[in-house]
Amino acid sequence: LALSLAACAGDGAGGGSGESSGAPAADGGTKTVGVAMPTQTSERWIADGKAVEDGLKAAGYEVNLQFGNDDIPTQQQQIDQMITKGVDLLIVASIDGTALANQLDAAAEKGIPVIAYDRLINGTENVDFYVTFDNYNVGVQQATSLLVGLGLLAEDGKAAGAESGPFNVELFAGSLDDNNAHFFWKGAIDTLKPFMDDGKIVVKSGQTDIEKAATLRWLQETAQKRMEDLLTSTYSDGSKLDGVLSPYDGISRGIITALQNAGYGPGQDAGLPIVTGQDAEIASIKLINDGVQFSTIFKDTRKLADQAVTAAQSYLKGEEPEANDTETYDNKVKIVPSYLLESDIVYAGNIKSLLVDSGYWTDAQVASGQ
Ligand code: BGC
Repeated sequence: LALSLAACAGDGAGGGSGESSGAPAADGGTKTVGVAMPTQTSERWIADGKAVEDGLKAAGYEVNLQFGNDDIPTQQQQIDQMITKGVDLLIVASIDGTALANQLDAAAEKGIPVIAYDRLINGTENVDFYVTFDNYNVGVQQATSLLVGLGLLAEDGKAAGAESGPFNVELFAGSLDDNNAHFFWKGAIDTLKPFMDDGKIVVKSGQTDIEKAATLRWLQETAQKRMEDLLTSTYSDGSKLDGVLSPYDGISRGIITALQNAGYGPGQDAGLPIVTGQDAEIASIKLINDGVQFSTIFKDTRKLADQAVTAAQSYLKGEEPEANDTETYDNKVKIVPSYLLESDIVYAGNIKSLLVDSGYWTDAQVASGQ
């Protein structure tokens, strides 16, 4: 499946460079880009890695692509080695956004530009550019889809009619060492807050802090366990859970498994709650199509890869890449110039127009979930 994504992603990623004759380095050889991705346990990162690699190759560069197995020392070592081997530029999607300052110092000493990919790298002045989505808005979209599912908002985001709750909702966050997790959470909580304040939404467990809601490394199993614990601690009195804010499809599937094991589901007294997500992973798209998961957020990784390649080409030509945001992403040392892309809410009703018509997934993949 990653291959089908990558095949589409290759289109146009060369940024109009036409046939590539290779990009000469200062020593006359071809320039090389080091690409560090966090993990292969989630299909989006495999697709991102392939798409960036294909785009860079189409533009005439050599690529050293590594995946860090969600292990911080592994990623540090991979980047150290890229620098030792003399790459001309780094594109990094970090595992822990605060753990790469030493690597980035070493890169800066050698004059290697660094582009943070999707996840910001914090606590260093040596990150030069950031390509990502509007992460706060992703959180807004996640919460909006939850409110739509509960009937508290219409799909256009306007106030809905009769449904008024109160609805029991539980909240999940991502990995706290990932800067994005905080943006998703903030966007979601700001959106839910008015409904919590007027009692239409009740977080029955009382777990409304990001620390309590967090899911280290975004792991499905960890989320499943927390959902099981919440059902035992808070819902064994027979009260019904109506909705779950989930920040990522893998987490959503862990939550859904816990709920199904506890007897939520079709034909049971309690139907499945509204469960949100992110990334439009194919297993979750099938669940949405089947009415099991309610929504996800589509971030077109092909477009993100394109932006990373475009920014890389600028640096390698000795120019500055074009930013469209220079005030949002403060990494505690500086505000990193960024290029932000927009995302979309996916519901069962727009899988075809958003994902199939754009060639991201095929009808057959939606049907099979693979
Ligand atoms: C990405 C999300 C992804 C999550 C887990 C975040 O940094 O922005 O798209 O769901 O990591 O991989």
